[in-house]
Amino acid sequence: MNKKYSFGIDIDGTVTAQEFLLPFINKKFNTNLILDDIKQYDLSKALPVDQDTFYEWFKATELSMYKNPPVQQEVVRILNNWYPSTKLNFITAREENATSVTKKWLHSSKIPYDALEIVGNASKVIAARKQGVELFFEDKHANAVMLAEELDIPVILFDAPYNRESTPRNVIRLQHWSEAEDWVKKEFGI
Ligand SMILES: [Mg+2]
Repeated sequence: MNKKYSFGIDIDGTVTAQEFLLPFINKKFNTNLILDDIKQYDLSKALPVDQDTFYEWFKATELSMYKNPPVQQEVVRILNNWYPSTKLNFITAREENATSVTKKWLHSSKIPYDALEIVGNASKVIAARKQGVELFFEDKHANAVMLAEELDIPVILFDAPYNRESTPRNVIRLQHWSEAEDWVKKEFGI
């Protein structure tokens, strides 16, 4: 069956809980950070260690953190509702080596999808254009603005302490997936 719509969806902080890395970080760096302490997307800025130290640890540990991350409320139900009519394309800045753990987690979490684009440092714009994405879901401010401007599509930006910069007109800041569900119902009729 041909699907009517095509959505692009970030994974980390969008489908997974925004704070899912913090228990690992707090344990490793002996901190006590909560989500409200994370005012910048670069997590190392909230830590008493330099960026290189943090990212070296992150690269060595990330696959184990991707095994079983908690997901946002309602997201599994909502994606399953959209799936029959809508191509769901996960477009993530995770790296190639995370492909297998990501697929396993999507499967075990009962999250349906049509495409998984693991873009690493490359632009999400190219992957989203390739999949004909008409609406994108993000939590990183810079990505949301870039996707909205370069593709001229609406982007739902899930509000977080680290993304509160101002946004262009077609970046829609929402708090929860249930709000996104209402927005999509109004705009796409699904
Ligand atoms: Mg993200």
